[in-house]
Amino acid sequence: MITEYFHDTAEEIALAARLLQKGELVAFPTETVYGLGADARREDSVRAVFAAKGRPADNPLIVHIAEIGQIYDIAAEVPEIALRLASVFWPGPLTMVLPKQDCIPEVTSGGLETVGIRMPSHPVARALIRASGCPIAAPSANRSGKPSPTTARHVMDDMNGRIAAILDGGQCSVGVESTVICFDDSDTIHILRPGLISQEDLAPYASRVYVDHAIYEQIAPDVKVASPGMKYKHYAPNAKILPVDAPDFAAFANYVSKHAVYGTYCLLFDGDPEIPGIPSMRYGDSGAEQAHNLFLRFRELDEAGAKLVYVRMPRQDGADLSVYNRLMRAAGFEAVTL
Ligand code: AMP
Ligand code: MG
Repeated sequence: MITEYFHDTAEEIALAARLLQKGELVAFPTETVYGLGADARREDSVRAVFAAKGRPADNPLIVHIAEIGQIYDIAAEVPEIALRLASVFWPGPLTMVLPKQDCIPEVTSGGLETVGIRMPSHPVARALIRASGCPIAAPSANRSGKPSPTTARHVMDDMNGRIAAILDGGQCSVGVESTVICFDDSDTIHILRPGLISQEDLAPYASRVYVDHAIYEQIAPDVKVASPGMKYKHYAPNAKILPVDAPDFAAFANYVSKHAVYGTYCLLFDGDPEIPGIPSMRYGDSGAEQAHNLFLRFRELDEAGAKLVYVRMPRQDGADLSVYNRLMRAAGFEAVTL
């Protein structure tokens, strides 16, 4: 298959929309990462998404909509708290898991009776959803297990020849996938996957907001989890990633200098100095900067031929938790604490 490359003009977005209507797969930009889109209602198209990614069938896809009102086409029940959050955080990087309508097949929901729904803020994503008239099921547009793509070139690297088209909308601003939540009751928000919208951001809108334990620890493959995606090793570059929780830079640098082998790199904060003799890259100081850069750096580290990467440990509060979670999963939850 020849993968077509589209620019984000109205004419080329219309061509991409036409392909989606015909049941084809189109990768497109969102503010979080690039998505691999298909008509969420078509079993054959959604199956093709799983095949193109090599994604396990029990890992559900998120359905993307362009207007808040479309939530009623996808969700069988919409509690008041969901509407409240939609009015505050949509369009934006928040996915809400709700009971699904029959028009969403179980292939899309990974066999679950619920479905994750999101209204992205990226203008190209919304234009594509509108032009196609389809709710678009879209996981991240990487091969399963690879870092999520934040540029059209990353998508090309993983998906060229496997999908009908790639729509280029430049580099994604957020850089990590959406915050995924479900509701345990009418006033409790359960965070299934951390993202830029944090526990602290959600706190004013419910009496309780809590983070699923799967975000902090490795879940055994046979254990049932609230969010199937959280049990898979994920986001990993080819290089071994080893986060190091050090009290300060000097302790980090000392540890790395003692343990460096051939192919060792460091992933540092912007404010850190160099460590003599050890090549490094930087991924930002704040959680938002680190989220924006993390997957990009993972791909650059592979291109540079890194074999082992010592990473300065991010914080675990606010949006930083999304970075911590992606990093720890890339590391298989192995880290060094000094
Ligand atoms: P991705 O498409 O790669 O961003 O992954 C989407 C993730 O959202 C999945 O791996 C799940 O963790 C989560 N998710 C989507 N739909 C549901 C659902 N119905 N129930 C629980 N988690 C979901
Ligand atoms: Mg993904």
